[in-house]
Amino acid sequence: MTMNDNENLVNHTPMMQQYLKLKAENPDILLFYRMGDFYELFYDDAKKASQLLDISLTKRGASAGEPIPMAGVPYHAVEGYLAKLISLGESVAICEQIGDPATSKGPVERKVVRIVTPGTVSDEQLLEDRKDNLLAAIWLEVEGYGYATLDISSGRFNIFECNSKEAMQAELQRTNPVEILYPESFASMDLINDRHGLRRRPLWEFELSTAKQQLNLQFGTKDLIGFGVENAVKALKAAGCLLQYVKDTQKTALPHIRAITKVSPDKFVVLDAATRRNLEITENLSGGAENTVAAILDKTQTAMGSRMLKRWLHAPIRDLLVLNQRQTSIAELQQQYDSIQPLLKQIGDIERILARLALRSARPRDFARLRDSYNILPTLQQELSTLHNPYLLALRHQINVFTDIANLLNQAIIETPPVLIRDGGVLAEGYNAELDELRALSAGATSYLDQLEIRERESLGIDTLKIGYNAIHGYYIQISRGQSHLAPIHYTRRQTLKNAERYIIPELKEYEDKVLTSKGKALALEKALYDQLFDLLLPHLAAMQNSAESLAELDVLTNLAERAYSLNYCSPKLVDKKGIHIENGRHLVVEQVLKEPFIANSLNLSQERKMLIITGPNMGGKSTYMRQTALIVLLSYIGSFVPATSAIIGPIDRIFTRIGASDDLASGRSTFMVEMTETANIMHNATEHSLVLMDEIGRGTSTYDGLSLAWACIETLVNQIKAMTLFATHYFELTQLPEKIASIYNVHFDAIEHDNTIAFRHSVEEGPASKSYGIAVAGLAGVPNTILRRAKQKLKELELLSKNSTEIPVDSSQLSLMSTPEQSEVELALTKVDPDALTPKQALDVLYQLKKML
Ligand code: ADP
Repeated sequence: MTMNDNENLVNHTPMMQQYLKLKAENPDILLFYRMGDFYELFYDDAKKASQLLDISLTKRGASAGEPIPMAGVPYHAVEGYLAKLISLGESVAICEQIGDPATSKGPVERKVVRIVTPGTVSDEQLLEDRKDNLLAAIWLEVEGYGYATLDISSGRFNIFECNSKEAMQAELQRTNPVEILYPESFASMDLINDRHGLRRRPLWEFELSTAKQQLNLQFGTKDLIGFGVENAVKALKAAGCLLQYVKDTQKTALPHIRAITKVSPDKFVVLDAATRRNLEITENLSGGAENTVAAILDKTQTAMGSRMLKRWLHAPIRDLLVLNQRQTSIAELQQQYDSIQPLLKQIGDIERILARLALRSARPRDFARLRDSYNILPTLQQELSTLHNPYLLALRHQINVFTDIANLLNQAIIETPPVLIRDGGVLAEGYNAELDELRALSAGATSYLDQLEIRERESLGIDTLKIGYNAIHGYYIQISRGQSHLAPIHYTRRQTLKNAERYIIPELKEYEDKVLTSKGKALALEKALYDQLFDLLLPHLAAMQNSAESLAELDVLTNLAERAYSLNYCSPKLVDKKGIHIENGRHLVVEQVLKEPFIANSLNLSQERKMLIITGPNMGGKSTYMRQTALIVLLSYIGSFVPATSAIIGPIDRIFTRIGASDDLASGRSTFMVEMTETANIMHNATEHSLVLMDEIGRGTSTYDGLSLAWACIETLVNQIKAMTLFATHYFELTQLPEKIASIYNVHFDAIEHDNTIAFRHSVEEGPASKSYGIAVAGLAGVPNTILRRAKQKLKELELLSKNSTEIPVDSSQLSLMSTPEQSEVELALTKVDPDALTPKQALDVLYQLKKML
């Protein structure tokens, strides 16, 4: 029996029929079916959920003759289970009881009220506050890829187009969506296969005309020309599908999504997928967040600032004007960050609060936090009033103070409201007179009860008479057992206690009804007023969103100022002339985690000095030096200060790194294959303004193969591409290249060897390294002495051998000779033949002779 077996539906209980109908409408996702205090799952859903959530799988009485697998979670703990499921890429349809069980015939009416998917959640509990959470849609046609992403918790809606798989891969990695919609015909599954949250969508959802219509409807526009995206046809198809999906799952309007922006790669310093990984920007190579660039640089005070900084780090920009504005702002904020940061710290996640406001799902505490944040703004404005930098002043202006909204919220919301509006108690006294009155009545706060008590006590002469209330029996008049015989006839007994009797009289009952109805009325009014708050705030949504964005930026800039000051960074000079000049550069992460002092190193690359061949022992500091260069360039291009005493950075369009590949077993590629794929990408896409870092290429194959490949790559990089390159290698043969090609230079890292130990200097020097210290490093790693001794012996033998053999060829055209040291008989014979000196008859004879030799 399958869940969707409609034929057999009649065999099921009415409730299961209802379930199966709802399930058929939500076939691919888990259905949480509300039953009393639980959400229940049935059939395959139950099996899956019990596995994923580690909850027990039970059975429910037979339906259609067979017991039904069932699993359930209590409704009050549902958020935790949802969080777990969406982190695994699952989606959940939440089905609630909407009918009244008391009046329903058959099963209570139920409805799917919301669909929770990884990429469309906006609930605070389900989101990581310092990380963007993106939904994406991807489209592929002959001309290339279209891609759209939406951050529903901010309204940021971006599109992107590219022609190559590598570029698409890089963008996927940059945006790192938690959920991806793809067309059923998608022919590039390997791009997304290893990601969570994949959703196959029917082709018609990607139709261009529907997409345009949907987008115009969303933005209230006639066409998309104003957004500059009219011609991005591939990306618009993806965007259309995405928007439709969000509407379907949210079942509400999305007023905070106000624009769509095209991301054009030429505005950014492009980082390919491998580079982004290798530079460990927000994620280290093992997938954690420790020892990453963000771990060191992100001391932002607000969650929105933290997310913005991470976006900046993943998308360095090339607009010198903007970069200069950021630099000068940071310089000025260095004087003042310590008085601004404590204020920013008190500001909540306005960006996400506004999204929930727009989705009308904001909770009482969202309003309270918005209020508290806005209450800080006047002080913040005051603090910023001494600034001079025009860019900072513009930011200050954008931040605004929202006095009216702050006043409204101050009046409306109590200091610390409950989590939900459900039971009321959110709106403050004094906000609405009618509400106050109803509340007073419902709380029985009138003097009526006191007066009634005195009146009855005196007129009946019963001094033990008192009026009380309990939740089960409501209001009562209590008389002690000793005096209960004095109770008049119109006193109706409600409850008998050990020492007292409790009565009700019509007058008190009437009062009770009034109190009870006023309770209901108060709650209804409070909910209506709460709803009204959304209507009062939503007209200011755009202004509040812009302000939040500026606050986030102020946070990022202040943070970068603090970091620059505390970590001793300098302002890099961004210039038009090609080159990278760094004085005493440091690796921002290594210098923080190292126990010993970090040795700063300088670097010069220019038109005349395009490539450095870096040699030196393992552990000498080669990769650190290369990575620190890339990071200094990256930081310069987000506008940040950099770990160096000075830096002059010319135009950079892309950063490539080919560093320490590991086997990509998931996609069945060996280390060598990964390495060559990355190398191919560099050779195809690098330009004269690219910074290329290559560490050890050609290691996964025979020495000569590898050396030849490295050699050829170097020639291409320097002579044709003209990129700025750092090339670390253990092939000493390559250190002869500077003699052949003018713009290549040798630099090296040194070490001091003493007996079996080795000390690294970590400082870069001009010229090639003299030896590689491999055996000493192996000793350091704990390779047994016997092996080291044998290795040293073997090394001597090999060195002797190579001295006696011919010199190592230094020209690539000779390299091929190295791999075929002996010529065959046929080849020797052929070299002696001079075709021009032969008659046709002789030529034919030679051919027969050659054939014979074989
Ligand atoms: P290589 O690439 O030459 O094998 P690494 O760059 O990986 O060497 O450096 C090895 C280790 O040496 C690093 O993990 C770090 O601890 C240390 N190191 C590297 N560069 C420096 C430096 N400039 N100052 C101090 N320690 C360094």
